[in-house]
Amino acid sequence: MNNLKSVNLSKSYTTNEESIDVLHSINLTINLHDQIAISGNSGSGKSTLLHLLAALDTPTSGKICIDDVDISSFTKNELSKHRLENFGFVYQFHHLMEDLTVIENILIPGQLANTNPSLKDDAHELAELIGLSHRLNHLPWKLSGGEKQRVAIARALINKPKIIFLDEPTGNLDDKNAQIIQDLLFDISNKHGVALVAATHDNNFIKNFKTIYKIEDKNLEPEPWLAPPTSILIS
Ligand code: ADP
Ligand code: MG
Repeated sequence: MNNLKSVNLSKSYTTNEESIDVLHSINLTINLHDQIAISGNSGSGKSTLLHLLAALDTPTSGKICIDDVDISSFTKNELSKHRLENFGFVYQFHHLMEDLTVIENILIPGQLANTNPSLKDDAHELAELIGLSHRLNHLPWKLSGGEKQRVAIARALINKPKIIFLDEPTGNLDDKNAQIIQDLLFDISNKHGVALVAATHDNNFIKNFKTIYKIEDKNLEPEPWLAPPTSILIS
């Protein structure tokens, strides 16, 4: 996979005869090496957009293309295979399996894909990368929030994805742990070209991204650099 594209992507939810338009005609292309932040108020549609891009939900109109092929032409199996092999996910809450150890949690997507002969070695390497190789056999409840989120990142990376989708990944962490997660994600993205697509309103996180968008009034607007201009800082 080389790119993922949304074309005139719109989404409405209908509940109890009431319909709400969340996203209107969004065009976005994600290439390898991209680092894209999507900001916006709570309820503006950030998670909805990530779910659509990651093929976890279907648009009301418009389409999602992978290498210019409309994914609505994929079978269910093709789509889940593609998701497993090309996408990683990290959410605000780690969603680790509580009765599986650190290393077992990291291994899950790899075992589902079942395509990597050196899966175990890779999982150990990732555990080292996230600084938890001394805690491989611990259950999640023994870990801090930041450590659990690091395991979630390792799990998202085990299949060597092309894109990692992040939904408020630092939203539940203190500043120090948010910084560790941030450094880890950008380090991986810069070294391996994994694209990052993050829904977030953490300004400290947002400012690291090469491209920053904001969802406003159902549209995706380019967001200029969020920090105040230098002249203001000096005065
Ligand atoms: P954000 O992630 O920016 O906070 P969401 O994408 O979660 O926003 O939600 C956007 C809007 O869509 C909100 O008004 C939310 O209530 C609504 N929404 C999200 N998911 C559903 C759903 N499954 N059914 C109905 N409404 C939904
Ligand atoms: Mg959300």
